[in-house]
Amino acid sequence: MSDYLWLNPFFIIYAVAVIFILGLLIGSFLNVCIYRIPLGQNIAISRSHCMKCGHVLKWYELIPLFSWLIQGGKCRSCKEKISIQYPIVELGNALSWMAILAIWGFRPVTILYCACASCMIVISIIDERTKEINLGLNLFIGLLGIARVVLDYRNWLYFVIGLFAVSIPFLIIVIVSKERAMGLGDVYLMAAAGLLLGWKHVLLATVIGCTLGSIIHLIRMKISKKGKELAFGPYLCLGIYLTILFGNPILKWYISFLVH
Ligand SMILES: [Zn+2]
Repeated sequence: MSDYLWLNPFFIIYAVAVIFILGLLIGSFLNVCIYRIPLGQNIAISRSHCMKCGHVLKWYELIPLFSWLIQGGKCRSCKEKISIQYPIVELGNALSWMAILAIWGFRPVTILYCACASCMIVISIIDERTKEINLGLNLFIGLLGIARVVLDYRNWLYFVIGLFAVSIPFLIIVIVSKERAMGLGDVYLMAAAGLLLGWKHVLLATVIGCTLGSIIHLIRMKISKKGKELAFGPYLCLGIYLTILFGNPILKWYISFLVH
């Protein structure tokens, strides 16, 4: 592709709009994953249907965001309320892609980070509900990590160290606490994320995730007035996502702080 095309503002606006719509559509698929994976259902087979009356959704009822708004959040057939989680996940996925695109631009690594963000939306919601992180979802991020090593093969050691930087200490915590403090799912998540981000970045993601996790968890316990078991995955995912966006400037600032 010629450089000229990338400098054309109309082409950029068009490309961003297409990626936003694709983000909504993939968000719609993430909703299917969030519902079906904990039930052990196949995510590819059988058309989407109302969970109450079994009404099979027509094509215009599958348009992300708008179908929910037009139908007023209800099934057209039985008027059962459709959770607001559906449009939120669709819009959230598209917006999370937009932020990554704004910072990383049109590069191969942007695709890996967007795929990781989408996968982490599914991981976070399922972990929050079931306190479990599906191995297949962690493996998916691991595959993105392998792609990152291939793309950035000159720095392969940075990513391979990342594979172990947080996962080994986490594994020790799991063994010592007998899976009370965290689960093996968190270990695999940080191994996969380490391969995708590299060791300094995955350490930063862990610091951000643990800090935000303890603050938000304390607030939530205050509000609900009961000790609730902590799902660690969503906070780790938040740390990973913020590191994807702001990791480079934060690490640069921190290292200049150490040197001076
Ligand atoms: Zn229905």
